[in-house]
Amino acid sequence: PYTGPTPDEILAMRQAHVNPGIFHYYKKPLTIVEGKGQWLFDETGRRYLDGFGGIVTVSVGHCHPHVNAAANAQNALIQHTTTIYLNPNIALYARDLAAKMPGDLKVVYFVNSGSEANDLALLMARAYTGNYDVVALRNAYHGGSQSTMGLTSHHTWKYNVPGGFGVHHALMPDSYRGPFVGDPDAATKYADDIQNLIQFGTSGRIAAFFAESIQGVGGTIVFPDGYLKKAYAHARAAGGLCVADEVQAGFGRTGTHYWGFETQGVIPDIVTMAKGIGNGCPLAAVVTTPEIAKTLAARIHFNTYGGNPVCTAMGRAVLEVIDQEGLQANSLARGAQLKAGFAKLAEKHTLIGDIRGLGLMLGVELVKDRTTKEPATAECLAVFEKCRELGLLIGKGGLKGNTLRIKPPMCITEADADFLLAVLDEALAGV
Ligand code: PMP
Repeated sequence: PYTGPTPDEILAMRQAHVNPGIFHYYKKPLTIVEGKGQWLFDETGRRYLDGFGGIVTVSVGHCHPHVNAAANAQNALIQHTTTIYLNPNIALYARDLAAKMPGDLKVVYFVNSGSEANDLALLMARAYTGNYDVVALRNAYHGGSQSTMGLTSHHTWKYNVPGGFGVHHALMPDSYRGPFVGDPDAATKYADDIQNLIQFGTSGRIAAFFAESIQGVGGTIVFPDGYLKKAYAHARAAGGLCVADEVQAGFGRTGTHYWGFETQGVIPDIVTMAKGIGNGCPLAAVVTTPEIAKTLAARIHFNTYGGNPVCTAMGRAVLEVIDQEGLQANSLARGAQLKAGFAKLAEKHTLIGDIRGLGLMLGVELVKDRTTKEPATAECLAVFEKCRELGLLIGKGGLKGNTLRIKPPMCITEADADFLLAVLDEALAGV
């Protein structure tokens, strides 16, 4: 049993000494002291189904034995010195990760967080193209560092500091609320906004176009089919590199494909990854082509912890588990089960305005009225709290905080998905 400080003691220490800007979501903060597979345990030993994968950071399940064994074996040998010396792990893992990438995406840079990965991608694109302006999408989340906060497009995550030099935000390609809802040519029209921005807001030449493959923090926004193809064409015509942020959508989570961008039929020039890549350890990566990578070889580029032996051992084990346990196929099956279940729930709960997502990256948007689509923000919070009471942890997001985000570890079972649906049913009924 857990013998550490009580939740009140933890909270008091946090309030006194930890970043006051972090939030703890629930009215009564939840303490998690253990995780196993798709389950999380609080200080009393109460079990919760993890429907959020710790915000998608846990891809193959908490404390997966194979991933733990890889970490433990490496911890017993050596944790880190510096990448100046050779160690097999960084090389083996880069080889295996590159083997998962399409096209010429074969060179890996290791960093420690998603923000760092996008920061590096931005630097790389500007250095390679010699251009400065960047197009990102409204409603995007790409990080909280000064430059990635500029790419991020949510007032709630931005400070009044000059972080977004040269960043322009194009229309969010939304099929539920955007200006082109229901338009069969929505993909073209949304993508044309990128060209408009380039023509009206830049010199005509850009460094990059950034997009999450599915917007995560923004409330699981899936782009209309063909959108990224058209967006990439506009960006490339202006000299820009195309950057896919796979921090949430990658590693088989969409079910049909290993990478989220593949669901749109494109091959980016730079791909950024974090969160699920390390199943909870501070590992992140930027993958690009040998030609683009040459740019950063003109000077020294160094990251002390990036690619350290322990994290790369864990990352490699994650790749193995996804394949050995068929987790991509499981994401597809469980995602279909959940989506069908949400559709059933929508028949009786009029709060459900939209159901979207791919595989195990799902969103359920709650509205007060299906015609006006008025966001049901308070109701969303109530459902979220009720789910916790009933033993299910999920996320929420979107600019108005009215979308439930369901992104469990990819190992959830059919029975877990049934439980999730039953809890959501009861929670919605109580609002
Ligand atoms: N990109 C996306 C799509 C994200 O969701 C996040 C984190 N929410 C980041 C980048 C930033 O990652 P980190 O918090 O590891 O810096």
